[in-house]
Amino acid sequence: MKYAAVILVFAVALGACSTEDETKLHAIATITEDDLSSHIEVLASDEFQGRMPGTEGETRTIEYLTKEFKRIGAKPGNGDSYTQEMELISLNPSVYDMITVEGEGGRVSLNYKDEFVAVSTATGQPAVISNAELVFAGFGIVAPEYGWNDYQGIDMEGKIAVVLVNDPGFYTQDSSFFNGRAMTYYGRWTYKYEEAARQGASGIFIVHETAPAGYPWQIVRKGWTGPQMYINKQEVLAQHCGFEGWINHEKAKEIFALAGEDYERMKDLAVKGEAGPTPLGLTTTLSITNTTETLTTSNVLALIEGSERPDEVIVYTAHWDHFGVDPSLEQEDKIYNGARDNATGTSALLELAEAFASLPKAPARSVLLLAVTAEEQGLLGSKYYVEHPVFPMRNTIAVINLDGLNIFGPMNDITLVGYGQSELDAYAENAAARQSRVVKPDPEPEKGRYFRSDHFNFIKHGVPAMYPSMGFDHREKGADYAREKANEWVEVYYHEPSDNYEPEWWDLRGAVEDIQLVFDVGYMLATSSHVPGWNAGSEFKAIREESFAKK
Ligand SMILES: [Zn+2]
Repeated sequence: MKYAAVILVFAVALGACSTEDETKLHAIATITEDDLSSHIEVLASDEFQGRMPGTEGETRTIEYLTKEFKRIGAKPGNGDSYTQEMELISLNPSVYDMITVEGEGGRVSLNYKDEFVAVSTATGQPAVISNAELVFAGFGIVAPEYGWNDYQGIDMEGKIAVVLVNDPGFYTQDSSFFNGRAMTYYGRWTYKYEEAARQGASGIFIVHETAPAGYPWQIVRKGWTGPQMYINKQEVLAQHCGFEGWINHEKAKEIFALAGEDYERMKDLAVKGEAGPTPLGLTTTLSITNTTETLTTSNVLALIEGSERPDEVIVYTAHWDHFGVDPSLEQEDKIYNGARDNATGTSALLELAEAFASLPKAPARSVLLLAVTAEEQGLLGSKYYVEHPVFPMRNTIAVINLDGLNIFGPMNDITLVGYGQSELDAYAENAAARQSRVVKPDPEPEKGRYFRSDHFNFIKHGVPAMYPSMGFDHREKGADYAREKANEWVEVYYHEPSDNYEPEWWDLRGAVEDIQLVFDVGYMLATSSHVPGWNAGSEFKAIREESFAKK
């Protein structure tokens, strides 16, 4: 009693630390390197078999997460359950070895895998596209905020769209136009597929070029030739056009030449929005037969229920899944343990749950810890969640996504992927300043990483998202060291069985600071009544406003 009185006097004398600050600091202190590493060690162990959806590895992951959330004192996040189950379908396409594009001037043949790839969501019947006309549709973009429509005045029914990769801003580098070098969502292949389907096209071919795509043809080939997973619902499968594919740069040039056009000239016109749509006077035929398999998988959800406005929620996401085991690998290590990707982010959810649960009084708003499945198969678990949300999207105040934490030690900075998009930047800056750190934008915004992890499914429904990533200014070893380690990681470990937890060299001090920072951000949001919005000019602002208007 006496002791408490002394502390009270001391606090009043200082005049700076409120009780709220004290409890927050206490909560932040529960996020430790020891806890984090012990969770990572379990999730990335060989017993978890690379955490492939629908396998024994999933069962173990769900058991562990559920047990830990319970122990920590976080409630079930989906009614009285910690899980949300869904069915996925895996479609393995068999495609012609060669297709031919024909016109009056002759023909161009394309070999499967080396020169074109194609997939389809057709089940039961094969997808057959016969003598369909090719139409060059610029970037395949309809963007009312830029007065831009690459499909202006054309009926795409029965036709195949041929479109360029990325967006016009990549070529002009004019930051007032499609964000310049930074990719907008219009530059992503996902968007181009979606728009072609909205236009009623029979199919779409994206022309691959390494610089604007941000990756070589090898990635396209690997990504679009094996089995593809989707949420097994007819209405979801029907959101796709007849087929979705890519053609390589060389063949695109030949096809344009066959049409009597010059590819580079048409691209220049497309950058100015003057390319068309242009029917190329060429047709092609292809057929895709899928063999199908279904599997059941689950998201894992835990809740810290708000004390004043429990209907409003701050969501933290991290994907628990990875690639499982590949017995056909030549090397000894056949398990894709996914230690950094994403045992780190999943473990962070447990640490965040513990920090929020340790507060003597829950924040005003609720906090949902959402460990999603099947990210590696195309952000499927998060897609399922936003279509079957526990909290409506208009009551979802913000989402913070963690995917692949910093394992290289303490940094003076933290990167925000998608910096400049929303008011959430200011929250991060505020929290970083309390750690004497700084927020920096993504050094490679042309890669469109803001559209490539689970928060993106929330963004599509208008929810502002924060996607923090490792900083590059190492507090002890400098910026060159951090950059070198990050590059080495991409080359040697990324999506390889070598992504193991290696305590001998992993340094999780920086990850702990990053988790503490995002806790602080979530705490500020959860204790406030402010509703952060998208910045003017963001391609997602209108979606949010529409979602509020429906209230
Ligand atoms: Zn990941």
